[in-house]
Amino acid sequence: MPAYLDHAASTPMRPDAVEAMVPYLREHFANPSGAHAPARQARKAIDEARDACAEALGVEPREIVFTGGGTEADNLAVFGVHDRMGGLLVGSAIEHHAVLEPIEARGGRLVPVDGTGRLDLDALAAVLDDASIAGPPVTLVSVMLANNEVGTTQDLAAVARVVRRHAPGAVLHTDAVQAFAWLDVAARARPADLISISAHKFGGPKGVGVLAVREAAADRLGPRALGGGQERERRSGTQNVAGIVAMAAAVRATVAERDATVARVAALRDRLVDGLRAVVPDLVETAVGGPRPPEPAGNSASAASTCASGAQEPSHELAALGVPRARALGSLRLSLGAESTAADVEAVLDALPPAVARLRAYA
Ligand code: PLP
Repeated sequence: MPAYLDHAASTPMRPDAVEAMVPYLREHFANPSGAHAPARQARKAIDEARDACAEALGVEPREIVFTGGGTEADNLAVFGVHDRMGGLLVGSAIEHHAVLEPIEARGGRLVPVDGTGRLDLDALAAVLDDASIAGPPVTLVSVMLANNEVGTTQDLAAVARVVRRHAPGAVLHTDAVQAFAWLDVAARARPADLISISAHKFGGPKGVGVLAVREAAADRLGPRALGGGQERERRSGTQNVAGIVAMAAAVRATVAERDATVARVAALRDRLVDGLRAVVPDLVETAVGGPRPPEPAGNSASAASTCASGAQEPSHELAALGVPRARALGSLRLSLGAESTAADVEAVLDALPPAVARLRAYA
């Protein structure tokens, strides 16, 4: 098996998540909105999944909205608040495109980060103050918990203090899509009103995720999908029962094993970084010194964050960190995951130096 070091793009499904899903594809396929016994069984499975997701995110089950993945959760957060409340939307400059583009589409503002990817809290306060004088009022601030490209994590409690003080009416959203595999999101995202996660980043299937909507903010979020009124009118559409059940299995296993996984993968990351430093001359670690989950760091790797892969432009994240364009173009994201092994790391340490030498010969 070639080594796979692109977990920030997607992870393999956990075998227990695959197993959990199969009966809901084959036997328990009924529409969970129905009234008959098979429908009730599907609904019960969703309810149990909702409980598991709620516990893992530190919210109430009624605050869970199942979505079709991380992008949909982020879009629901940003557009949903704007549809209902109007006003000015604000986000960090290193948000994922799924947050950035909705903010930009509604004429919002971006707040800069420092060279390690940490949000500039003074700049945030200034943007919020500016809006409170010149209007329109800020209705949403979105700051991701962990970045998909450089792994920097944000202190949401500090962000929330600034938001509550300078824009008390704003909803605070956090994209915890990359964080969930590595961080106790229930604790770290406690100050957030809205929290996005995506199953395929932690061993679940693609195309299923959650937007957690705290009750206190629920009346400030409008729906994006109208129809049958599922998910308490917040996301119409027949739920992806099998995907939701599999996501819940991945949620439970990720939370149960998280501390051990983080310790094990952090050691692999250190070996990878130290090893690369030793074998690749003039290597620069982006955002070195920045706080990070065991992270982005292959045989499978990404030249940029993969959601828009194929693009040869340097990412907006590296530009926001002030990484010079030439260096950003030569950057490589390697990201470990829960099933990564020491052999994967050694394979990269073997494969990378000759590849780098070959590429540098063209420069
Ligand atoms: N947010 C972040 C931080 C991500 O890394 C990604 C995926 O790369 C997304 C959102 C989008 O999630 P999905 O792929 O489930 O649409």
